[in-house]
Amino acid sequence: MTLINPEAVKADAAQWFAQYWDQDMPLGDWWQLLADSGWAFPSWPEGFGGRGLSSAATKAALQARRDAGAFGPPNGVSTFLAAPTIMHYGTEEQQTKYLPRIVNGSDIWCQLFSEPGAGSDMAGLATRASRDGDEWVVNGQKVWNSGAQWAKYGILIARTDPQQPKHRGITYFLIDMEQEGVDVRPLREMTGDAAFNEVFLNDARVSESDRLGDLGDGWRVAMTTLSHERDPDNAGMGETAAFGAIDLTMSVRQYGATASSKNDGFSLALSGGVTKVLDDVTAQFDATKDPQVRQTLARILEMRRTSKWSGMRAAAKIKSGGQPGPEVSTLKLLGSDMGREIRDVGLEAMGAHGMLYGEDAPTDGLFHAYSMFTPAQSIAGGSDEVQKNIVGERVLGLPREPGEKEQRELPWSELPRS
Ligand SMILES: Cc1cc2nc3c(=O)[nH]c(=O)nc-3n(C[C@H](O)[C@H](O)[C@H](O)COP(=O)(O)OP(=O)(O)OC[C@H]3O[C@@H](n4cnc5c(N)ncnc54)[C@H](O)[C@@H]3O)c2cc1C
Repeated sequence: MTLINPEAVKADAAQWFAQYWDQDMPLGDWWQLLADSGWAFPSWPEGFGGRGLSSAATKAALQARRDAGAFGPPNGVSTFLAAPTIMHYGTEEQQTKYLPRIVNGSDIWCQLFSEPGAGSDMAGLATRASRDGDEWVVNGQKVWNSGAQWAKYGILIARTDPQQPKHRGITYFLIDMEQEGVDVRPLREMTGDAAFNEVFLNDARVSESDRLGDLGDGWRVAMTTLSHERDPDNAGMGETAAFGAIDLTMSVRQYGATASSKNDGFSLALSGGVTKVLDDVTAQFDATKDPQVRQTLARILEMRRTSKWSGMRAAAKIKSGGQPGPEVSTLKLLGSDMGREIRDVGLEAMGAHGMLYGEDAPTDGLFHAYSMFTPAQSIAGGSDEVQKNIVGERVLGLPREPGEKEQRELPWSELPRS
């Protein structure tokens, strides 16, 4: 990691954006230019869209981009989960094959972790991968897979040895979604969108060269992915969203105009941009005159400060190669609480307009889309209850769940299943 004075970085970035930002440029060209310049993900290594900058210098570069009004790099599972995990565990061949096409937005990825019988208890997963020569044959079902209907590749965890205890017989793969054995079925949500899917794997094939990390070490690799999912300092969590299929020939201006409504509450929650929208709402409805609204806004501000502090601790730990600790769970819980507070105060500030839904509602319906998404925040990436268990056991020293220790040692094949 290069430690450079943030002010110098900001000036350098500002000069670059002033010279190259052009909202009429095709989106694909802009993303390629950002990637080549290293301003796409400044904290990532050189050659992969970054400059190896420190966290402070990266923040300064992002501010320079915002000041220029320039569009950010691609965003989504590809950049905030797949790329950092491939950077951490990938072979040189895997990195060269996958990272450039993630950074320039050509390939969309999805995460194939959860299963109908293995969500909170992810280590209990039943999807099987069996070796067949130089390939693995995968059978099973995944669920809640965001963006899978648009994805070219998936990060997949599957059981390769049922005789091992449940955490040990799992292996991590990079799977091509565009093959006969992969059947993706979108699930409709209460927002009306279908952001996530069921994925059925029927004799799907993965090459041995697309195994990420060691055989049987998939749980550890998956924990690295999850630590990035909960890391607010993650460079891949940008301010643009790329969950949908994207026309890379569209101009940045056109894409920017449709992105906010198309990618709705999900991307707003992901990018943290909702507080800006809340500012717009309270200003539009002159709501800060109300002392109760002011009180709630002050509470949200305090939560943001606390989460920033915990986030810095968590990020430092992850960056020094450590595993996610309980501070990540506190962060996740804070995020859920903050989401609910923001939703309630924003809708209240709007008065009767708060009851509307759709593009003619205030903020073009964006705040309402976010509000509808908030329940998902306390489930995605590990539910609130599970985070509380982690805090209870690892921080407060409460006893583990009955029978858990024994279950950790038994071969997966002997575990009771519903
Ligand atoms: C918006 C969204 C996007 C998602 N995207 C993806 C994705 O891209 N890829 C992917 O693989 N998954 C994804 N998920 C799935 C997510 O990771 C799971 O939903 C989550 O881990 C919970 O698992 P589950 O739904 O099976 O619930 P369950 O594990 O069945 O839990 C049901 C309820 O029981 C509670 N519970 C379970 N175990 C315990 C316990 N030990 N103690 C106390 N309470 C418990 C839970 O808190 C919950 O309230 C997404 C989910 C959401 C909401």
